[in-house]
Amino acid sequence: MALKHHIEVLRCKGCGLCVAVCPKNVLEIAEEVNTKGYFPAFQARPQDCILCALCCTMCPDVAITITEEKEPASTER
Ligand code: SF4
Ligand code: SF4
Repeated sequence: MALKHHIEVLRCKGCGLCVAVCPKNVLEIAEEVNTKGYFPAFQARPQDCILCALCCTMCPDVAITITEEKEPASTER
């Protein structure tokens, strides 16, 4: 099962803590605001993410999660 990194844009207040803590320099702050008026973080270099979860731990707004992505259901029996 693959792991998926997700940033909930509407929870993000653009504080930049996750950008600062990421050891792989994956994250950046967007240049466009979300509907709440904050500049949210996003994965600018998702291919470099090692899913270490440091950003999830650091985020004061619990906006970042790493979840298991279920494989599509197999049609074989
Ligand atoms: S999971 Fe780790 S490598 Fe990936 S964005 Fe977060 S801090 Fe960076
Ligand atoms: S730490 Fe959380 S609130 Fe701050 S920029 Fe990152 S995702 Fe947004």
